[in-house]
Order: sequence, then structure tokens, then C-alpha cells
Amino acid sequence: MVEQKSKSEAVRVVVRCRPLNSKERSEDRSTSLKIDQTTQQISLPGGSQTDASLSRLFTFDSVFGPECGQGDLFHSTAEPIVDAVLKGFNGTIFTYGQTGAGKTFTMEGDSISGPDRGIVPRCFEQIFDSIMHSENQEFLVRVSFLELYNEELRDLLARNVKGKLQLREKSSGDVYIKGLHTFVVNSIEDISRVLQVGKKSRTVGKTLMNEDSSRSHSIFTLTVEGMTPKSDKDAGHIHVGTLNLVDLAGSERQSKSGTTGDRFKEATNINLSLSALGNVISALSDGRDGHVPYRESKLTRLLQSSLGGNTKTVMIATVGPADYNLEETLSTLRYASRAKNI
Ligand code: ADP
Ligand code: MG
Repeated sequence: MVEQKSKSEAVRVVVRCRPLNSKERSEDRSTSLKIDQTTQQISLPGGSQTDASLSRLFTFDSVFGPECGQGDLFHSTAEPIVDAVLKGFNGTIFTYGQTGAGKTFTMEGDSISGPDRGIVPRCFEQIFDSIMHSENQEFLVRVSFLELYNEELRDLLARNVKGKLQLREKSSGDVYIKGLHTFVVNSIEDISRVLQVGKKSRTVGKTLMNEDSSRSHSIFTLTVEGMTPKSDKDAGHIHVGTLNLVDLAGSERQSKSGTTGDRFKEATNINLSLSALGNVISALSDGRDGHVPYRESKLTRLLQSSLGGNTKTVMIATVGPADYNLEETLSTLRYASRAKNI
């Protein structure tokens, strides 16, 4: 048995600030965002600390500055969740932030095997490593990969990228996706193949349907089933853990004027699902056993069984350091601190 964590410990909200990129450096962009790793605080210039609505000092479970590498970030955010999943618990990791802030870099990284590989490949490494070193268990690892765009679900591992999936509910209240493909993977090499297929579907879907991938949520799900072998005294005991790795749609506000038709619907759906997610995380992290509004959006319904209860969640809010997008940075920090008020 894993000890029962208090809810606030089971939900962590952290912030990662990327370095200035080469364009920003060449334009000599100023940065005034300050990160204090001893207090886990981020401060922005201006505002007033006495008026909460103007507050520009934020405290999180952890803050990571531009010098933080992918390995260190993984170690302090994802590793404990993967450990729990291997023991049969559920977990979810989100990356949140405006487009360009570093969500995909954090989640996927720039390659599958280089030093800048992200959380997804590192989770697989940890899982297969643990499986290789476990002597008295048999494991089965399965993956699925889907995209949620405009409240429509698409299977990124299916042949027909245009096919839409339906969210269904069992009489028990459990939510599942009808017809979603899942693949058994046996090695890191299998995973890279799956990731490539998914990436290709995303590109094809984007072109076919004239979409922008920053406007969709992508959800990579890993299920780890462990069975104690016949030789053991707990023979045949099965535990199943699910890990969701979610790269959220860009949180930037759409300009109100000129946003019409499809783009407007898109923006409305994104705002709705991101605010519903914020409400769910906030309800879970405040530690009271109150109502958790999972039903507010497809995203939260979909992830319901991996959020709350005996599960672990980490939200990684990503921001850029340059002052020209201070307003978006502020809005990301506000979202993150509302999700978990520390
Ligand atoms: P998003 O997915 O939020 O739109 P990306 O992850 O694509 O943003 O990041 C935008 C660019 O910034 C990419 O070129 C990415 O490689 C780079 N980048 C993001 N975060 C970091 C980081 N922590 N260190 C170095 N480069 C980063
Ligand atoms: Mg991205």
C-alpha cells in the first residue's frame, strides 16, 4: 500500500521559465521576471503586494529557471508519478502556457534520445528500466495517443486520421473512449515508432483540416499492467496504473475583434476546457472533499479517473522570460496560482 497522501500533496503546480531564444537575444529583449528557488517564488515588476488583484508575487510548489535542464525537471516532477504508476496508481502530467512558452519542449523535447529529450521519452526509460530490474513481476505496457480539437476526439494512432472518437460512459460512471487504438510496446524502440506515427497523423490532420496544432490538446496515455508470477506467494495479483501526458492547447487570449466563425468557436472551446481544468485542479488541491466539476468539459471528463482520489497530478506552467509578453506570462501565473493556492 502506498500511504494516503493529502490531496494538496497529490496535486503539484510548478512553473518553468525558458531561456531567451536567439531571436529575443538578437532583439536585445529585456527580462524582469525574477525566480527565487529558495522560496519557490516568481515576481514580476509593477503591481502592488497589498492589492491581491494586482499581486505580482507568486508562490508555487516549485519554480524552475532557464538554467534548469530536462533531466532535472523530469527528476523533480515526473519521476515520482511514474513510480506510483508502476505500483498501480494513476497519474497525469500537464504542460500549460502560451504558444512558444515551452510546453512541447518540456513534454516531448527536441528528440527521443538526445540530452534535451523531454518527459515522454524519459517516462518510457524509467518504466522499461524498472521492468528490466524487477525480478518477480511480469508487465504489459500499452499506449494510446489522441488529440482533442474543438471538443472532438481524434485517434492519432488510427489509420483514418479524420475519424472522430466518441466519449462513452459506463453505468458505473466510468468514462471510456469507444474504438480508441491501444498498442502494446515492449521497448524504447517501439515507443519511438508510436511517437512518429502520432506526429505524422498530427501533421496530416492539420493539413487536411486546416488546423493549427497549438489549438489542440494532445494526450499520450500509457497503461502499465503488472502481474506477480506463479512462483510468488501473491501469484496472479494484477495492478494497473495509467499515466496521462497532456500537452495542452496554447493558453493565449485570442483577440476579440476579428475572431469569427471557426476560429471563434475554437477559442471558446479552448477557454472553456482550460478553465474547467483549472477549476478541477483547484477543487482537488484545496484538500476539501467538496464537489469536483469534472463534467464541465470533455478534457476533464476524459481524465476524470486519473485526477483526484488516489492519484498524482502535476501541472507544469511554462512561461517565457521576455517583457514583451509579460501580460501573457502574468495570465499564466495567475491561472497556475488559482489552480493551487499556496
Ligand atoms: P509551445 O509548445 O509551448 O508552443 P515549444 O515547446 O514549441 O512551445 O517551444 C518554443 C521554442 O522554444 C522551441 O524552439 C523550443 O525548442 C524552445 N524552448 C522552449 N523551452 C525551452 C527550454 N527550457 N530550453 C531551451 N529551449 C526551449
Ligand atoms: Mg507546442
